[in-house]
Amino acid sequence: MTKLDLPKKGSVELLKEIIAERAKGVNAKFFARVGDDWTERVQAFIDAAGNPEVIKQWDESLANPTPFLTLYNSPADGHAHQIVLSAMREKKLQICPSCGEDGTPHTLDHYLPKTDFPHFSVIPANLSPMCDICQGHKLAETLDKDDLRIFIHPYFDQFVENRVLRIVVGEPYEAPHSFELMPMDGLEADLEALLLRHVAGLKLQPRFVHFVKEMHGHLIRTVANMRALDQNVVHQIRSFRKLEAGRGKNGWRHIYFASVLKDGDLLDWLVNGQLPEFIDTLPDSDNED
Ligand SMILES: [Zn+2]
Repeated sequence: MTKLDLPKKGSVELLKEIIAERAKGVNAKFFARVGDDWTERVQAFIDAAGNPEVIKQWDESLANPTPFLTLYNSPADGHAHQIVLSAMREKKLQICPSCGEDGTPHTLDHYLPKTDFPHFSVIPANLSPMCDICQGHKLAETLDKDDLRIFIHPYFDQFVENRVLRIVVGEPYEAPHSFELMPMDGLEADLEALLLRHVAGLKLQPRFVHFVKEMHGHLIRTVANMRALDQNVVHQIRSFRKLEAGRGKNGWRHIYFASVLKDGDLLDWLVNGQLPEFIDTLPDSDNED
């Protein structure tokens, strides 16, 4: 969950260019007829922050999806939307904005799916980078059984500018029985509920736990090494956290280090506790690869 800046070219601004370019094409009449309604609907999308609880489907685009979908699926070279789409695809992130896992998210996700909302298929505010795993879980879902939106929108949901998740490490610390992914305390109730739907919708808990188990083992080994070298364990973990905060406050590594630093008992065990003996085998040279 990362807050992203809205794409530079505004969605309504781009839409006007698309409609102007279509004035001479094969679907000229179609776009001339729907242009004003379409623009209104895109403006309504922006005003409603893309929220599927309030944004209605459009009979016109459901009846005639092809002209809209073609814009996204086969954008003509040099046309306004082709330039915007390739710029969005070229922008390489290091962390998936939806889940926080490391790695370059390769696909553009349609926040409102193009099957249900063909007229938003090419609208920048509806498109954001996402990793393949998230995309495989999100599919065309938008609302839960109570008609509440499931997913956080990376352009509009400001609250993910701050860290929103923490991990609770269960004892024994050398081989924890559990790692539990939890919302941060103090979130507004509706935002916390949205976050929990998002976490469940992307099956984040098992994915995060798989990652954090390994990370925790690495940290214990590294801490054993720090202690052998008389380094200040807490200062070192703080510097790991700071490094990761720069990459993304809701990145998995940042959530882990920040959670360790907030857990007094775990921190005390790392500083003073009995570490497993077999682990103190890290090289202490900076030249090791
Ligand atoms: Zn992801």
